[in-house]
Amino acid sequence: MLQKTAAFVVFLFASMAASALELKGDWQQGGVIVGKVPQGTLVEYRGKKLQISPAGEFVIGLGRDAARHAKIITISSDGLRQEHEFAVKQRTYNIQKVTGVPQRTVDPDPAQVERAKREAQMSADARKGDLPLTFFAQKFIWPLIGPISGVYGSQRFYNGVPNSPHYGVDIAKPVGTLVKAPAGGVVTLVHPDMFFSGGTLIIDHGHGLSSTFIHLSEVLVKKGDAITQGQIIAKVGKTGRATGPHLDWRMNWFEERVDPQLLVEPMPE
Ligand SMILES: [Zn+2]
Repeated sequence: MLQKTAAFVVFLFASMAASALELKGDWQQGGVIVGKVPQGTLVEYRGKKLQISPAGEFVIGLGRDAARHAKIITISSDGLRQEHEFAVKQRTYNIQKVTGVPQRTVDPDPAQVERAKREAQMSADARKGDLPLTFFAQKFIWPLIGPISGVYGSQRFYNGVPNSPHYGVDIAKPVGTLVKAPAGGVVTLVHPDMFFSGGTLIIDHGHGLSSTFIHLSEVLVKKGDAITQGQIIAKVGKTGRATGPHLDWRMNWFEERVDPQLLVEPMPE
């Protein structure tokens, strides 16, 4: 009898271990969740099988307007399927009126609209990869220290015209201030001067999580470069649709825009 109980306990323990799901990060709009599962476990989110690193890590990003409920499905190596449900905190975003941006960037002429569309496609393509890098699991650092002049999610009006939300965190610093990589990765896009975003740099941190830096005066790395956390990658500028010199740091999980501020410590005073 005792033996039977012990065998049952061992069995129970083994199946619990096989379905273990560890998660870090906040279930809120704009949030990034880094998870870990035992080897051989499959993870599905919104009908998609996520890439799992050899160490069992994966990442999920929640968009600005993510729904109230999220669900992860895990299927263990011995076939145990489990649904894990989470409540997603809904945020309220502020309204930000921005005046003094170049009027040509508020109602651009048709040729510029075409150009901007092509450039947006280039950026989207650079964020499509599901690279087998695991820098997404690093503790992120600020790319530079300075006053925050814009936050994720704000509804923006440019020169009085309603526009798409602002997805980056803006840090106001003079042109030429050096920008550091918030985490390791690989450079997937460098552009000297896009219509809206000016000097643009995209670094892929792996599994679809990427950082985009815009309005740069100079990019100091090349497409394909491997980047380490803290490496100097660019210089602050005011190129594209910008009122003054600042770094605009955005993050994506594939096409979802996530909030970089949720991955770093509060900005030091
Ligand atoms: Zn910005």
